[in-house]
Amino acid sequence: MPWVSTVRRRPTWSRAVGVKRFVCERRVARRGASVSVTAVFEVGAALLGACVGSFLNVVIWRLPQEDPRRRSLGGRSKCPHCGTQIRWHDNLPIVGWLLLRGRARCCGKGIAIRYPLVEALTAALFYALAVWPPFGPVLVATAAGATAIDGAAATALALHATFVALLVACTFIDFDTQLLPDALTKPGMACGLFGGFWPGVAGVVTDDPSTPRALNTLLASVIGLVVGAGVTWLIRAAGSRIFRREAMGLGDVKFLGMIGAFLGWQGALLSLFVGCVAGALIGGLLALRRGFGLKIPFGPYLALGGLVALFAQAPILELLFVRWPEWQRTSPNAQWFLLVLAVLSLSALFVLVRRGRRAG
Ligand SMILES: [Zn+2]
Repeated sequence: MPWVSTVRRRPTWSRAVGVKRFVCERRVARRGASVSVTAVFEVGAALLGACVGSFLNVVIWRLPQEDPRRRSLGGRSKCPHCGTQIRWHDNLPIVGWLLLRGRARCCGKGIAIRYPLVEALTAALFYALAVWPPFGPVLVATAAGATAIDGAAATALALHATFVALLVACTFIDFDTQLLPDALTKPGMACGLFGGFWPGVAGVVTDDPSTPRALNTLLASVIGLVVGAGVTWLIRAAGSRIFRREAMGLGDVKFLGMIGAFLGWQGALLSLFVGCVAGALIGGLLALRRGFGLKIPFGPYLALGGLVALFAQAPILELLFVRWPEWQRTSPNAQWFLLVLAVLSLSALFVLVRRGRRAG
């Protein structure tokens, strides 16, 4: 049974009207794949996500280890308390933890709830990728009415799945160690550049049809990497000048370079923006509850920004650059709204600074 879905295309900046005018093309595409095939595809993506999440738990635990022998990703999993090899059925994603009720079979010690949560999170993200593929639908109908796989969309989906997995792994390693390992961010950059070359996950630089497509999309990816890393590096340099201490690590610079290679420069800037807003909100709330001085890693907020940009880049950019200015021009209450917003954020800042003084 064919059904209709809206497919978002990558945003393009119209040159004729200048960069202020953001054009978002919406295209209604027929997604003719049968409902049952689509359902199998989506559930399969979630199951694969749970297994990848299980592997990510291994990466998160082993990659930051000092001892190079313990850093290797091969070999069977062992109980971190007593070193007994874990049986395969106890190691099943999510289900294993539920059946054991969070206690290791070998020594009865507790297994952190974070393990099934990472698996469930990855499963949910893979499911979201299958249901709302950012590049376009993977299953398409042929003229004969059968279901076919779109090669470019399938490759883009695999690359986006890798991207999401990298974001999850980096987030939890940053929570644990305040570091974003080069062993993940550098291959991530290479992956993003490959996806820029083909099928073009970072969008295009120019709408001029005479430019070779591969060059056009690869350039978008390279510019995304340079802008993402460059802007973060500038903020880091300014932050260390002003606050006389390192506000961000070099890991954050490479991490945002990786995000830019996947999402293009608009996506990189949007990720940074969302990361800063979320960091200020959540960091502020945490500081109010537990006092200042605690180290909060920035990587998880950037990863959150990367996810928001991956799934909702086009509507957010449209809201910021088309709808918002339009509303400001037409609505008589816009100034009052801005005034209230400014007063609220200033008072929030004031409260935070005063609490910080008292705590320090
Ligand atoms: Zn044990």
